[in-house]
Amino acid sequence: MIVYRTRQDVASHLDATRDLGKRIGFVPTMGALHQGHASLIERAGKENDILVVSIFVNPTQFNEPADLENYPRKMDEDLTMLRDLETDVVFTPSEKEMYPEEDRRTFDLGGLDNVMEGTFRKGHFNGVAQVVSKLFETVRPHRAYFGQKDFQQLVIIRKLVELMNLDISIVGCPIIREPDGLAMSSRNELLTRAERKAAPHIYQTLKAAKEQKAMRSPAEVKSWVSGQFEDRSLMELEYFEIVNDTDLRPVRSWTEPGRKVACIAVRLGKVRLIDNIFFD
Ligand code: AMP
Repeated sequence: MIVYRTRQDVASHLDATRDLGKRIGFVPTMGALHQGHASLIERAGKENDILVVSIFVNPTQFNEPADLENYPRKMDEDLTMLRDLETDVVFTPSEKEMYPEEDRRTFDLGGLDNVMEGTFRKGHFNGVAQVVSKLFETVRPHRAYFGQKDFQQLVIIRKLVELMNLDISIVGCPIIREPDGLAMSSRNELLTRAERKAAPHIYQTLKAAKEQKAMRSPAEVKSWVSGQFEDRSLMELEYFEIVNDTDLRPVRSWTEPGRKVACIAVRLGKVRLIDNIFFD
């Protein structure tokens, strides 16, 4: 496993392997790796000749300074895990390396960034587009792997690739959960013991909401879900939306065409968690 710190070094290593006809699989992460990340990394390793993982806590996608400051960082443990997963190349740039000067680019993400996470985290997806576009330019992978856990992000990355006319296949990977159903996330370790105990309610509610589909309209399911969080002292529901999985427009009726996905964001103290479930 080779660890690179600069864009130029990683790019020239990968240019050479690309010229040999090797297929490059890429998994961008912000580190504090868990089994959710491992599932993407294992898949990328199986489906490609060269496995590249990046670790970079991207400041431009954080809309709250405290969230950026508290974000878990565990470089040594991450590198051990990446070695065990037989990663070929790790890219861990500094902030200065990625942003030698302020990135002023704004991306037209076709309104996909104006709903759900975009409403509660202003500028978040523009920051994601800034870092992912730079990473894609540097690594130039054949395939890049993203988790469905961040469903809106996955849809936006597909849009970005189309916008930038890049020849990269975006592979969406299923959500990996703890045994009690909580979606794995680097932020889970910031939960207090009481919050961690309460957190599985998020996925339990998503599953129960899916079962309501036979009896209730989308609007009724939405208000039922709101009710499920009213008497939960440790949790605050930010949003629950049932959307079309391609344009992220809210679903008004079950008979509309397209696959439907229910997305949720919940605050537990200082930590904000997201999750989602397909309704069909
Ligand atoms: P992050 O380090 O949080 O930016 O995540 C890096 C990648 O791992 C993203 O594509 C996430 O969607 C994905 N990911 C994070 N948690 C999970 C999970 N529980 N299951 C599957 N993929 C995940």
